[in-house]
Amino acid sequence: MSELPTIAHHIDGVAVASADQATFDSVDPTTRRPWARVALGSTADVNAAVSAARRAFDDGPWSRATPAERGEVLHSFADLLISHAEELALLDTLDMGRPLAQTRDRDVARGAANLRFFADDARLAMDESMPGHARHHVYTRYEPTGVVAAIAPWNFPLMQETWKIAPALAYGNTVVLKPAEQSPASATRLAELAAEAGLPRGVFNVVQGFGAGGAGEALVAHPQVDLITFTGETRTGESIMRSAARGVRAVSLELGGKGASIVFEDAALEQAVAVVADAAFSNAGQVCLAGTRLLVHRSVYAEVVARLVSAAETMRLGDPRDSGTQIGPLSSEGHHAKVTGCLDAAIGEGATKLTGGERHGWWVAPTVLDGVKSSMRICREEVFGPVVTVQSFDTDQEAVRLANDTDYGLSAMVFTTDLGRAHRISGRLRAGNVWVNCFWVRDLRSPFGGRGHSGIGREGGRHSREFFTEAKSIVMDI
Ligand code: NAD
Repeated sequence: MSELPTIAHHIDGVAVASADQATFDSVDPTTRRPWARVALGSTADVNAAVSAARRAFDDGPWSRATPAERGEVLHSFADLLISHAEELALLDTLDMGRPLAQTRDRDVARGAANLRFFADDARLAMDESMPGHARHHVYTRYEPTGVVAAIAPWNFPLMQETWKIAPALAYGNTVVLKPAEQSPASATRLAELAAEAGLPRGVFNVVQGFGAGGAGEALVAHPQVDLITFTGETRTGESIMRSAARGVRAVSLELGGKGASIVFEDAALEQAVAVVADAAFSNAGQVCLAGTRLLVHRSVYAEVVARLVSAAETMRLGDPRDSGTQIGPLSSEGHHAKVTGCLDAAIGEGATKLTGGERHGWWVAPTVLDGVKSSMRICREEVFGPVVTVQSFDTDQEAVRLANDTDYGLSAMVFTTDLGRAHRISGRLRAGNVWVNCFWVRDLRSPFGGRGHSGIGREGGRHSREFFTEAKSIVMDI
């Protein structure tokens, strides 16, 4: 028998092993050794979880509770996240290598903020009432939809999972969450804490396991699932959309990105490069929003590149549990092979490495490449590692053309001190999210999502409410 800690499914309010007792290992990317044994979900486990969620939705109190009643439970859940911050953060760090200081101070804090925001948003939301017609009184109700399937990636496990379950629950749905196979631990713990906070049994279920051919595919194919929210790779999104077509289920897809950071000649260069480096290398570049293509006005190109190289070289790689570590290992052996393969291919295609690229264990040093063309794979495909390409431009028009020369459309960053230019360029970028002189900043009321290969739909504030509810018009002749 193994002495590794075990991670169970959470179905109908209790921790359960897989119906067939199967397990898989979660590997700590720091030690490259298994650190936990995880229940391996199959169709039988998915069926049990969806049945529990269906019963809880149809017969339980949650879907009929008032938003204020639901909000109280979600605020208690958020309190428990904060009081268990160290423990939850360590689970994500062990699973996927993100520095503990960041999983604790950023991700758990944001997880709690997600729960509090949607609890309050659901409570404060107003429905339309149109009493104006002579005889008819018309009004709208936003009703819970039903059973939500939530499929999450591994790059910010707890944060991404709360981003999905918070609105799903706040607007009265029940949920089956399938976390990524690389990052199972915090999801099961989240479900336990939700139960402790008073969430009725069956309202929030977790099934562990793999995607294609496993629990993920079984979950999105299940006919009793009413709504699918997915974050992950574009190819997976396509497959999930095909599943969602059966039974005409709504789907929200938050997919990959290939964001541009554009530095104009009038930018505050020191501040700009600090943000550019953060946008390229934070979380070892495993960020959908990352600024992976740096575009710099020719007149400041040499200065910006020199500053970026120096910023990359001063980043501290290390054990993600050490407080000074800025960059941990990549999340898994397979992902390390993918990132280093992309780097080698870029050099093979003629890119010049200005710094970085060194490998140690599953770490990859922050890497800056120039001598690239937009047609090269390194400029077109999502690497999802600490790698940034640099190109120069001469005019605003050329900057916009280069930035938009991608199938993706998730994020773009603009660095300028010219207010008019900031507005003009932001308006012309084909991306769901544009940051000017900053990165990361999120107001949870604003829409979040991507266009093109970066996804379908927007979540955040009223956009989440529209996605996670069914609007009903009621017309009364009175
Ligand atoms: P992935 O698509 O490989 O896996 C994501 C999840 O989908 C996992 O839980 C996986 O088990 C599951 N899955 C895989 N195949 C499935 C299938 N056929 N049916 C059902 N479920 C399936 O993505 P990943 O490698 O875990 O995450 C990284 C990707 O996520 C990157 O492309 C990144 O850009 C993207 N991402 C996007 C956002 C955003 O907000 N747009 C945020 C974070 C990550």
